[in-house]
Amino acid sequence: MKRDTQIFDLIDKECHRQKEGLELIASENFVSEQVMQAMGSCLTNKYAEGYPGARYYGGCQIVDQTEQLAIDRACQLFGAEFANVQPHSGAQANAAVFFACMKPGDTFLGLDLAHGGHLSHGSPVNLSGINYHPVAYHVKEETGMVDYDEMEQLALEHKPKLIVSGASAYSRDWDYKRMREIADKVGALLMCDMSHPAGLIAKGLLNNPMEYCHIVTTTTHKTLRGPRGGMILLPKDFPNPWGLKTPKGEIKMMSQVINFAVFPGQQGGPLEHVIAAKAVAFGEALSDEYTEYAKQMLANAKAMAKAFVEKGYKVVSGGTDNHSMLIDLRTKFPELTGKKAENTLVKADITINKNMVPFDTRTPFSTSGLRVGTPAITTRGLKEEHMPIIVDMIDRVLSAPDDETVIAQVKKEVNAMMSDRPMFAW
Ligand code: PLP
Repeated sequence: MKRDTQIFDLIDKECHRQKEGLELIASENFVSEQVMQAMGSCLTNKYAEGYPGARYYGGCQIVDQTEQLAIDRACQLFGAEFANVQPHSGAQANAAVFFACMKPGDTFLGLDLAHGGHLSHGSPVNLSGINYHPVAYHVKEETGMVDYDEMEQLALEHKPKLIVSGASAYSRDWDYKRMREIADKVGALLMCDMSHPAGLIAKGLLNNPMEYCHIVTTTTHKTLRGPRGGMILLPKDFPNPWGLKTPKGEIKMMSQVINFAVFPGQQGGPLEHVIAAKAVAFGEALSDEYTEYAKQMLANAKAMAKAFVEKGYKVVSGGTDNHSMLIDLRTKFPELTGKKAENTLVKADITINKNMVPFDTRTPFSTSGLRVGTPAITTRGLKEEHMPIIVDMIDRVLSAPDDETVIAQVKKEVNAMMSDRPMFAW
């Protein structure tokens, strides 16, 4: 078969774009060469419905071992009792947990999408908001921090089955202890979707949801720096509520219910090549080098938030505890939408995403904010001293969004900063 140059030329162009530019999307990262190799391996050829040791296909003796390694390493990394590494994505991990713990129409609490929550936490256009009954909690307008008093009052009022912590655009740590107290008051299960800060949690740089939550979900491709995918973890030492009733009334262990919800509940064959890549990434995350990476990612985020504040930008909640921050453009540029800012920065090879800010006056398509994160640029080797330089470049573009000369000049500086840096983590 002749080479598909149409696709491979485009892949080359995308590699070039990634290499030359500044990648500031908080949910993106650059995987290692070994993670990439595992994903592009012959394991993609294998069907393996079921779980290690209990498959519906023959020939799974090797993928049983790669999947078991992924499970064991995930448990070691997060101090978990159980891991399901099969969800194809974060949204599917969340959907599986909802399927395991709720019946259609049941009520759950999640952070409002417009306040930083993820669409799989109850958006009306997502399965989570269509099949179940979401009630949104919010951040406080004055502080930008989660309003736990409101959460408690909503829990007492609505008696949810599940309370969900975790977000897509929230730069502060979570009070899992307080959330567990709220959950216990109303007999709800507490779930954490740690997709964004998982890598920082793994290294003890943020509060650990495994101490208080009944169920933890995550993506594997953000701060964790693995392949695109999802995972579900159960913590150790939770005697109750482990026994969940199946539709037939049998009491099952939570781990069995979760496994059943992923397969056959909502997925078919697991992506064994991606699962092997997850195993590689978890192995890397267990290393001391990754600890240094995680600390640097955090230091870079703090330096960047400080640089934005010094340039007169409003950082929601005044700063960051994690790898990300949300910039409210309205203070400095009342007329500039997040959409225009995103599109203009892309012209200067700075990739960033527009985002709603809490109490936004614009629509999700337009927005008044930008979400910025440091996982990817930290992998590319940038340090604290680079952060004010990056913020200055962003500021110059946003101050003159229609000035092609400024944009071209910043693009040149971005390319000079990035083009010689390796693409792979290691
Ligand atoms: N959960 C959170 C908190 C996220 O931020 C995201 C993605 O950004 C997801 C879930 C969904 O992950 P995926 O895109 O892999 O479905």
